[in-house]
Amino acid sequence: MGTEILNCTEQALPVGAQAKRSTRKVAVSWGQKVVHIGGSASVVVQSMTNTDTVDAIATAIQVKELAMAGSELVRITVNTPEAAREVPAIREQLDRMGIDVPLVGDFHYNGHKLLTQFPECAQALSKYRINPGNMGGGKRRDDNFAQMIEVACRYEKPVRIGVNWGSLDHELLARMMDQNQQRQHPWTPQAVMRDALVVSAVSNAERAEELGLAADAIILSCKVSHVQDLITVYKDLSARCTYPLHLGLTEAGMGSKGIVASTAALAVLLQQGIGDTIRISLTPEPGGDRSREVVVAQEILQTMGLRAFTPMVVACPGCGRTSSTVFQELASDIQTYLRDQMPVWKTRYPGVESMNVAVMGCVVNGPGESRHADIGISLPGTGELPSAPVYVDGERVVTLKGDTIAQEFQEIVENYVQRRYGSGANHS
Ligand code: SF4
Repeated sequence: MGTEILNCTEQALPVGAQAKRSTRKVAVSWGQKVVHIGGSASVVVQSMTNTDTVDAIATAIQVKELAMAGSELVRITVNTPEAAREVPAIREQLDRMGIDVPLVGDFHYNGHKLLTQFPECAQALSKYRINPGNMGGGKRRDDNFAQMIEVACRYEKPVRIGVNWGSLDHELLARMMDQNQQRQHPWTPQAVMRDALVVSAVSNAERAEELGLAADAIILSCKVSHVQDLITVYKDLSARCTYPLHLGLTEAGMGSKGIVASTAALAVLLQQGIGDTIRISLTPEPGGDRSREVVVAQEILQTMGLRAFTPMVVACPGCGRTSSTVFQELASDIQTYLRDQMPVWKTRYPGVESMNVAVMGCVVNGPGESRHADIGISLPGTGELPSAPVYVDGERVVTLKGDTIAQEFQEIVENYVQRRYGSGANHS
């Protein structure tokens, strides 16, 4: 009895995601800037504008905001001749602002025409998104697809062949439904649709290769709007090819629903080593910040331990032991402060993105959690002495009191960052 440890296993349980599945590596570039997708590269965060591309200034400003928030690729709609004509102007505007993020053109229905009629648009884009489900039918579809691939080859641009549940190739689906009826035990229509998505993506990629596009210039996606369907489809897709995969739950929705649904689906796949680039398709609130989808994508990757972008704040949820909102405000202020510093800090203080900060509401878990963080503060709960011990690298270093706790804590964080991550610091 007492201190005896019950040994159920010989070894400690493994922690962490499975190794990423082996894929080809695709380079998406603009000037000197190269973003790798697949191979040994980390999972890439991307996003999409919701401005009218014809409004080149508004689009360039939103691309800049998304890039500043951390989007490593930004996709823009290219749907009309007027939009295609503005793409080089958007690129120029970004270059003038020093924003080298590669632009991806999103094409549907008329991409073959726009890319051939507007060569400067084809050149200014770094990658083309092709949806084989809405390029017409029969021979016309084949010709339109071939025309887009020919442009990609000519300008040496990679493509994403993006199949979507809402615009699946009708002819392929009808054929597969017919074949399903020949089975001894026919699949459900849903199962046939999931299979058709994967078949459409892989067969179009193979066709692109036959047309001359290099295998390492192809990325695939199969987007659906239900979590379980997405997981099933991507597991199947990942087993059937070695192209890098773009993950995203399409039409994820607004607010917490969109965030939760996207996280649930992507976390399961990323944990299994599936996924090379992600986009979170959140519907913004009216007037809401488009960059939120970038923050959510980063937070999914960082909380899963796959990448680090911004120091993370661990905060307790609060409960009846602390009726004060001081710790909520401090946690929120510190998280905002840390994120706001990152554009400068990421070059000045390498490694700072992995820092952990704890802001806790009372003595129950406060000191313990604070000791586990790089820097932690345990604020006083109800009935506790009005003092807040601060822990740095597991040691209690100071106790703050009075109305300036927030300000003093921020200064401690700033000094710690300079000392630990500044030039000449020991980064171990
Ligand atoms: S640390 Fe204290 S205030 Fe925060 S949730 Fe735990 S008991 Fe409640």
